[in-house]
Amino acid sequence: MISVPLWTMANSQMTHDLQCVYRAADVGEADIVVVWLEEQAIAAFVKDRYGASGLYPFAVAPLGVEVCVADSEQAPRASALLEQHAADIEARKRAVATEPAIEVACEACGIKTTFPAGQRGRVGTCPNCRAYLDVPAANAAPPGPIPPAEEWSGYEI
Ligand SMILES: [Zn+2]
Repeated sequence: MISVPLWTMANSQMTHDLQCVYRAADVGEADIVVVWLEEQAIAAFVKDRYGASGLYPFAVAPLGVEVCVADSEQAPRASALLEQHAADIEARKRAVATEPAIEVACEACGIKTTFPAGQRGRVGTCPNCRAYLDVPAANAAPPGPIPPAEEWSGYEI
């Protein structure tokens, strides 16, 4: 009979609890929480962004997507803040859900990539050539409906 030493499991569980402060339903929600934590001066990241849900940003991971803080000493503060401001995050989730995804053309290779609205104001990566892409912030987008294509034909990007 093969048994896994109990301490191994207990240990990994501890590490998990120390650094991971939020379980989001999908990568989009996890990104919102990361941005929110960074606004509170807490460095955070999405754990297993691609491992959990493949390469598709909108896919839902069966067990959720975890948000972790870079410095485990900040985890208690991050958890407390997330609890206190759960309403803020809910509001932001609703706002992002109503925003369309953003299409960004890569300056290096010209390939267009679609980023979820939760990535606004952040730096993304071109899936084709790995160059960094600036995802425009919300206030950079024209208000109201997107103008018809003809109005844009005079612009060379
Ligand atoms: Zn590119």
